[in-house]
Amino acid sequence: MITIKSEREIKLMRRAGKIVGLCHQEISKFIKPGITTNEVDQFVEKLILDNGAIPSFKGYAGFPYATCISVNDVVVHGMPSSYRLKQGDIISVDIGANYKGYHGDSAWTYPVGKISKEDQLLLEITEKSLFKGLEFAKVGNRVSDISNAIESFIKEYNYGVVEEFTGHGIGQQLHEAPTIPNFGEKGKGPVLKAGMTLAIEPMINKGTKKVKTLIDGWTVKTVDRAKSAHFEHTILVTEDSCEILTTT
Ligand code: MG
Ligand code: MG
Repeated sequence: MITIKSEREIKLMRRAGKIVGLCHQEISKFIKPGITTNEVDQFVEKLILDNGAIPSFKGYAGFPYATCISVNDVVVHGMPSSYRLKQGDIISVDIGANYKGYHGDSAWTYPVGKISKEDQLLLEITEKSLFKGLEFAKVGNRVSDISNAIESFIKEYNYGVVEEFTGHGIGQQLHEAPTIPNFGEKGKGPVLKAGMTLAIEPMINKGTKKVKTLIDGWTVKTVDRAKSAHFEHTILVTEDSCEILTTT
């Protein structure tokens, strides 16, 4: 069942989203060559706690960190570590904050120092594909209209759209119905209604769409070791557009 949020719930989700947005705003200045991904994780965790929220991911299905940090060929669910970022890396930071029982969820891929033109394009196109998807997140459309918009936009490029991981409903649970793939025919799936809150999150690979999960049970990498980008916002469906919640 897809939950419709009340005004009170929407207020709490706005607050959760704002905290996540603030974390992204701050780490965009913090990420640079020489810092470790553990430092990024600790920076975000402190910021979430200082704002009266709890990191949504810590303890979720046993995940031990506040953030998922996925560098270069890691697609999603990477674990923070002692790895030191170096110039030319790209780093996807996925952040969730739980404010008074409601979640915000947003991922963004950042360049570390100066990156190649090719990698810059991957980031730009993946970010744009998120906003293409968001254009279709409005009352009366169906879930797969979002999916189709993302895939259709990416099709012009020789990129792989990851299929194993998807966007999702969000609210009191980090992952709620519906599942929102980043590919598929339009006109399928549930009809969108005002008050639904969704996390839309294209994961786009520079090479093949194929991915594998490492033995740690979390880290997902591209099978061809090509780089991957991930952009995600939590949004509220409204009558003729959507409201982005995970922004400052
Ligand atoms: Mg996320
Ligand atoms: Mg998500």
